[in-house]
Amino acid sequence: VSFLIPFESALGETRVSATPETVKKFLDLGCKVFFEKGAGKAAGFLDDTYMDAGAELVEIENDEVKKIVDIVLCVQPPNEKFLSHLKPGSFLVGLLNPYGNKLLAETLKSKNISAIALELLPRISRAQSSDALSSQANIAGYKSVLLAASALDRYFPMLMTAAGTIQPSKIVVLGAGVAGLQAIATAKRLGAVVYVSDIREAVKEQVESLGARFIELPKIDETPSESGGYAKQVSDEFIVAQRKELAKQLSEADVAICTAQVPGKKAPKLIDEKMLDDMRPGSVVIDLAVLSGGNCACSKPGETIVREGVKIIGASNLPCSIPNHASSLYSRNLLSLLQPMFKEGKFLIDNDDELIAGSLISKDGVILKSEIIENGG
Ligand code: NAD
Repeated sequence: VSFLIPFESALGETRVSATPETVKKFLDLGCKVFFEKGAGKAAGFLDDTYMDAGAELVEIENDEVKKIVDIVLCVQPPNEKFLSHLKPGSFLVGLLNPYGNKLLAETLKSKNISAIALELLPRISRAQSSDALSSQANIAGYKSVLLAASALDRYFPMLMTAAGTIQPSKIVVLGAGVAGLQAIATAKRLGAVVYVSDIREAVKEQVESLGARFIELPKIDETPSESGGYAKQVSDEFIVAQRKELAKQLSEADVAICTAQVPGKKAPKLIDEKMLDDMRPGSVVIDLAVLSGGNCACSKPGETIVREGVKIIGASNLPCSIPNHASSLYSRNLLSLLQPMFKEGKFLIDNDDELIAGSLISKDGVILKSEIIENGG
């Protein structure tokens, strides 16, 4: 079985899908590994280290190698040109952004390709070591707080100095999933006072165990629900009521970290313009949900907007700002998912396995998640 580690060509992408460490493991399984020149450079993994591990260097855009490799490991979905060169019957694995991705669907069908979209991996215990959304969200949560701390015009911790006492900053975290929990822990380590809102009941205890305060849910006739660990979408009426609960906390906040999302749906708009009007000039909003529509009015992917002194940062791809560790964790996620598929020297995509069944969007060109891939959810 042969693998290709491509050079990630998407704008701003600095991560790589396999490191020399995981290359060695694939070689131990009896595989052949090709990597595109410079594939790991932006993440601090130089070509020599891949070659020392036993991988074979190929030039970027070497279409001939794409026509022979069995498995392509990627971070982001490959572009149209890359897809057009894939070997018929091959296997594609990565964060494929399958929602409404018609081009991907067409290629998978026309070339009998099997593909796993890591976004769809079921949130079960056994999946944790393969869960790329979690490993990357963890990084985003951590980095969002560092970004906020350096953009803020105040200290995070309480300080008693000869010139008097400085009160700690107040941070509001919206959404306490993987990114939100890491943001809470990081902000606490920096000494801030942290308030948190989430609609999943289970989260309150986790938030409090990190030493943060939970903002109570609005009292209306709707109980938010969840399935498989994810929040389900709540009504517009609920969001309006939730905004009322959040308004006071935000008017006193120095920083808001926005991580609230519902998979495959538009992110809930939790901070409107009126709430921004009431925030202190000098305060900072980091919107990690910006690519799915944003939790905050006015946020734009990759941009910092200063509105009446409030900095609104649309943080669209923070894992790319820590590419070495982001790639190490991502590569291990892929290894952990693929390793069990090698049995007695053979490679088998076993659709009876719950992890595979949940994330396999196509098997030999047959689209298995047509609702997601063709209609976006
Ligand atoms: P996510 O990125 O989809 O959402 C982030 C958070 O936003 C969630 O906690 C969600 O409840 C919250 N949210 C949605 N609407 C909201 C609203 N209106 N207001 C406030 N918050 C809102 O989720 P995620 O971080 O990828 O994962 C969510 C949870 O899934 C985790 O906390 C964990 O419990 C579970 N999980 C399990 C596994 C596993 O067992 N393999 C792996 C990862 C995550």
